[in-house]
Amino acid sequence: MSRQNVEALDVEGIRADFPILEREFSVGSETQRADGEAVDDGTPLVYLDNAATTHTPEPVVEAMSDYYRRYNSNVHRGIHHLSQEASIAYEDAHDRVAEFVGASGGREEIIFTKNTTESENLIAYSWGLSELGPGDEVVLTEMEHHASLVTWQQVAQRTGADVKYIRIDEDGRLDMDHARECITDDTALVSAVHVSNTLGTVNPVSELTELAHDHDALSLIDGAQAVPNQPVDVEEIGADFYAFSGHKMAGPTGIGVLYGRKELLEEMEPYLYGGGMVRKVTFEDTTWGELPWKFEPGTPPIAEAVGLHAAVDYLEEIGMANVQAHERELSTYAYERLSEVGDVDIYGPEPGPDRGGLVSFNLEGVHAHDLASIMNDHAVAIRAGDHCTQPLHDKLGVAASARASFYIYNTREEIDVLVDALEDARELFA
Ligand code: PMP
Repeated sequence: MSRQNVEALDVEGIRADFPILEREFSVGSETQRADGEAVDDGTPLVYLDNAATTHTPEPVVEAMSDYYRRYNSNVHRGIHHLSQEASIAYEDAHDRVAEFVGASGGREEIIFTKNTTESENLIAYSWGLSELGPGDEVVLTEMEHHASLVTWQQVAQRTGADVKYIRIDEDGRLDMDHARECITDDTALVSAVHVSNTLGTVNPVSELTELAHDHDALSLIDGAQAVPNQPVDVEEIGADFYAFSGHKMAGPTGIGVLYGRKELLEEMEPYLYGGGMVRKVTFEDTTWGELPWKFEPGTPPIAEAVGLHAAVDYLEEIGMANVQAHERELSTYAYERLSEVGDVDIYGPEPGPDRGGLVSFNLEGVHAHDLASIMNDHAVAIRAGDHCTQPLHDKLGVAASARASFYIYNTREEIDVLVDALEDARELFA
């Protein structure tokens, strides 16, 4: 990212695009009206659960409702006007996403799935189950999300392959010396998370990909927390496969993306079968259609693709380097403010270029779920739990953590609300 070109976001203008942020909750506080009657205060929502799901701006909602109002129809099959319009919009969405993540092969390298989890399972079923066997190794990191960790564990159990984990150091960064030890000529795949959804660590994914390629292994990068929050160029990274979700990047739920290098996707077998993905079917056998449709059987997420296209337009208009700078500023501020609160343990690296826009933490003596519940009493939405990284939490020595995660519409003032609520929790449990 070129730091000189970064512009401050017009956060107020952005917030106006997200009506959900105007919601207020009655959380029990009361004020006196002029006539003396007590009334509930509407407490404004402070939404800090963006790593789970981001909100959807008006242009995205509008694009999807325009689709349903004006050209809702099934794709690929129809001769009629509506089907042609829907097909073009659906195909264009692939091109737009390809451009957004630097996939020069265009739509053929972009498969629409349900979410990141399904994108990773697609590789597991289509490539993993047929290519892996005893003696092969899949190298993961200790900070993988269950979407990748559980998936490759299962594939390994079924195929007789082994799974290895690259260690993290005390600061929550990958131990790259250990990575060099783990990735060997026995490695068939390196599957690594780009930005950890628990630690916030931004991993050196180009370096990991290079290590994989040095040993003729493939790389799969989980970009669920990267594509929404920073510029990503899959070719600059050198990734063979790269996965992410629409609902974490101002887009709709129900759509995810798998980028794959065309040569690899061409060789791979589909993992789901049905209509819309075939070239020729006889009673005896079937041949597959073109990329990416070969991997998209059945009626695909058409409205969602239209919405994802609009989300990409929306984010690019803001500028991904600006999005990244805004989130970095907020997470640095949150890190500093949380560090000032006594008895708070923060996980992951200190603020810097290798930390993304989220902060996970624990308040000593208070279970993360209780903390999230107290936050909710202040209309502050955070996440509490293991964030689908149970083995990482085991390694950190805690059952759960609280996580505040930021997006383009969040402000420093909202972080102040979070920190004030934390002080309340501390007093309550003192
Ligand atoms: N990987 C990471 C790093 C994530 O943060 C998430 C979502 N928490 C996922 C994978 C799974 O995403 P989805 O639920 O959209 O499949």
